[in-house]
Amino acid sequence: MSAPYRIYLDEDQIPKKWYNVRADMSEQHDPCLNPATGQPVTLEDLKHVFCDELARQELDATTRYIDIPEPVREFYKMFRPAPMTRAYNLEKALGTPAKIYYKFEGNNTSGSHKLNSAAAQVYYAKEQGLTSLTTETGAGQWGTALSMASAFFGVDLTVYMVRASAEQKPYRRSVIETFGADIIPSPSNTTDVGRAILKEHPHTGGSLGCAISEAVEKAVKTPNCRYVLGSVLNQVLLHQSIIGLESKAALDSIDEYPDIIIGCAGGGSNLGGLISSYMQDTLKGTSDTRFIAVEPASCPSLTRGRYAYDFCDTGKITPLARMYTLGSQFMPSADHAGGLRYHGMSPILSKLYHDGYMEAVAVPQTKVFEAAVMFAKHETILPAPESAHAIRTAIDEALACKKTGEEKTILFGLSGTGYFDMQAYSSYLAGSMADYVPSNQELDLGFSHLPNVG
Ligand SMILES: *Cc1c(COP(=O)(O)O)cnc(C)c1O
Repeated sequence: MSAPYRIYLDEDQIPKKWYNVRADMSEQHDPCLNPATGQPVTLEDLKHVFCDELARQELDATTRYIDIPEPVREFYKMFRPAPMTRAYNLEKALGTPAKIYYKFEGNNTSGSHKLNSAAAQVYYAKEQGLTSLTTETGAGQWGTALSMASAFFGVDLTVYMVRASAEQKPYRRSVIETFGADIIPSPSNTTDVGRAILKEHPHTGGSLGCAISEAVEKAVKTPNCRYVLGSVLNQVLLHQSIIGLESKAALDSIDEYPDIIIGCAGGGSNLGGLISSYMQDTLKGTSDTRFIAVEPASCPSLTRGRYAYDFCDTGKITPLARMYTLGSQFMPSADHAGGLRYHGMSPILSKLYHDGYMEAVAVPQTKVFEAAVMFAKHETILPAPESAHAIRTAIDEALACKKTGEEKTILFGLSGTGYFDMQAYSSYLAGSMADYVPSNQELDLGFSHLPNVG
């Protein structure tokens, strides 16, 4: 019997607990450091920036399963379980013996997986009695997801949006405003750090790192307000573990186990969430799945970055994290895959990669869009450019199987839809998209600003 196209889970199969992969890692990532003291950050340090429960989750390396609060699970029911699909038509078009499955997280108005963590973060803020939140958004998906969750749970929201994205995606802005949030293109003159960056780079299109600095500054200077972040952090990987838990339940139900799991990696949250429950088996030594992170050649933090302590933001006000990084001062080119333009990588994924549990590849964007268009034609979903990085590598792995005749099972994360990225598609279709690959000299410049730690 062959697998169905769509593998359905029932509403009551939405997981009741998130899975914390750190509980099964024999070695933890190095602790984040308070830049003022050089000491590991404490719960008290984090509570100035994040709400209390999220600060606790950030530091929790031992609780294996954490209850998903009932109101968050209720919220999830509006768009979860997310679909799992066998890409029969893509397989046929490729002529591959490989079996390709994808988990689609773009099945909600925000268009991506980010709503999974947004719901959790806003819920905990509301529970604590906070009245407002600040955040940054790159491509706009996180800002949208958070504006949806904020409207739902009743918390005010200010979004610092990377200026290049705000200009490229005016409709993203309208969606966020529809849900009632305020949008400020970053860098802006509403914060000290924004004014300083503008003084040095008056024409910059901004970056995620820079928008983070502004949002954090605004949060700590506003009463009853905290900052929330859509990726990179341990708490976000925890919330996104729902992707992998559902994937595993779906594939288990048809007796499938992936040989290869692929995801795009910006800050690492969709990939970390997708792989975590399979990584658990690998960490226990009961399976040997290959995990592949796919990043843009224009912002190659895993494949060409350094494993070092660095700031998580351009303005150097966040804690120092040991991670693969291009340096917090690295300004990525105005690549269309906005959500992958981040200089660092989740400390958990960085550690897993460093210890050899995960591979990474960097792909140029014209090859990414070629894959996106092929996928769209055969699978009828218009993928987000970020997600299309994973599609590219899934296709490459499936083509490798064609050469060797191996019938491998490939699972990839389709993290979102591309409806708000039509400018990028237009530029690809018009043949005007270029591939930007930073030189070693440019990267060295980024590394030269790494803080001196230890
Ligand atoms: C934000 C985003 C990403 C990148 O973020 P990660 O934390 O690495 O997952 C990837 N895909 C989509 C659709 C996104 O919105």
